[in-house]
Amino acid sequence: LLETRGLVKSYGGTRVLDGIDLTIQAGEMVCLIGASGSGKSTFLKCLNLLEPVDDGQILLDGVDIAEPDLDPRPVRQRIGIVFQSFNLFPHMTALENVLLAPCRVHGRRRQDVSPEVERLFTRFGLEDRMGHYPDQLSGGQQQRVAIVRALAMKPDVMLFDEITSALDPELVGDVLDVLRTLRAEGMTMVLATHEMGFARELADTVCFLDNGRMLETAPPAEIFTNPQNDRTRAFLARVL
Ligand code: ATP
Ligand code: MG
Repeated sequence: LLETRGLVKSYGGTRVLDGIDLTIQAGEMVCLIGASGSGKSTFLKCLNLLEPVDDGQILLDGVDIAEPDLDPRPVRQRIGIVFQSFNLFPHMTALENVLLAPCRVHGRRRQDVSPEVERLFTRFGLEDRMGHYPDQLSGGQQQRVAIVRALAMKPDVMLFDEITSALDPELVGDVLDVLRTLRAEGMTMVLATHEMGFARELADTVCFLDNGRMLETAPPAEIFTNPQNDRTRAFLARVL
């Protein structure tokens, strides 16, 4: 579904992504792990064209979307992203936050989108929170609204960047449940996470990033028990 070939991205003179090759199959959940600054967030932002790349290809269904003169908007509709900070509009209710993009971008009518969106809220246990403003919601609820907002665009791929790191530990579980649900439904997902337990439980494939290079890519059962690369081993010894 999504594939990168030799992806390179520099900030100033520094190569933050140094030739990344990764293939993401439809329905697969890929977890990116690696030290702070290894390039996980940058990689996700490049995937949905929030950051331009310097070299390499990003193939979405075989079409290179890394071409500089390509319109990024249709790509961003197909590849949704959710960040650690939920980025909800504070002056809009949860429902309005979610309705905004489908109505503006797809030009769909509010009354047509509303039933779908309400089903999403219900599916993620938020049906009684639709009329609340972000500051009336817990962090975990805000994060779930942010996920619902991305799903309302009916993406083919969802990218998640450390979506549980800003949450109190007791709220993390609710957000992880959302990911479990999406995985069971066959959503294709790429997730940057510091939570190894979570990568271990849910990922089909775990990728270890180190200084902008993908040093090891393997199923969790292999990478966590028998890492092949010395740097993966050293990283895991520190965090596990
Ligand atoms: P963390 O686990 O802390 O979230 P990360 O793996 O997501 O880290 P990135 O945020 O991708 O790492 O950053 C990779 C490198 O790129 C870092 O050295 C960072 O300082 C640098 N970097 C990221 N964004 C920018 C930017 N907009 N301008 C300049 N440098 C940047
Ligand atoms: Mg990051």
